[in-house]
Amino acid sequence: MPEDLEPLCVHCGVEIATIEIGEPGRIESLVHRHLLRVEPWDHPLEMGLGVPTPPPPACDLCGAPDPAWTYPRGPAPREEHGDGTPTVETTDLGGNEFEIALSFERHPDLPADEAPALLLELLFHDWRACDPCSVMIADRNLDGLVERALSRRPADGEAAITRLRGTFGTFLRFKTRHPEPAHD
Ligand SMILES: [Zn+2]
Ligand SMILES: [Zn+2]
Repeated sequence: MPEDLEPLCVHCGVEIATIEIGEPGRIESLVHRHLLRVEPWDHPLEMGLGVPTPPPPACDLCGAPDPAWTYPRGPAPREEHGDGTPTVETTDLGGNEFEIALSFERHPDLPADEAPALLLELLFHDWRACDPCSVMIADRNLDGLVERALSRRPADGEAAITRLRGTFGTFLRFKTRHPEPAHD
């Protein structure tokens, strides 16, 4: 018998995540996305069915292997905030439901309809980075990060470059904490 088939991208074999956007009980839209921190910029997502291939550990920004640093999920603790960095207020509504109020603005190059999915990635997943990327993250060097990513994998058109810039720019606004050494 074949293994269970899952939704995956036919170009890269990575599993596809489906994100529901809207109010509880009233879904306004569904977003399909690679189950990766950053959407690939070298090919469009094309949905198929198969047995997904989990990607090997890599820098979430440029794709380099064996990332040395981890950026913990969530925004920085309140006392580390400077001006304009994100704050999160969580209200326990009971019955395992929470309301999350987030003061935060995406980078303007990130398409508005992609912001909720990226926010979930930033809130609930650790991000990994290689040495060169972590130096540029510390320097808030957005141009350098985009250039490095594009030098490792060329972009599939101008829109992909803009989205990549918006994604990295949003990451820089959100991740104001120092990284931790990655351990395998
Ligand atoms: Zn893909
Ligand atoms: Zn990197």
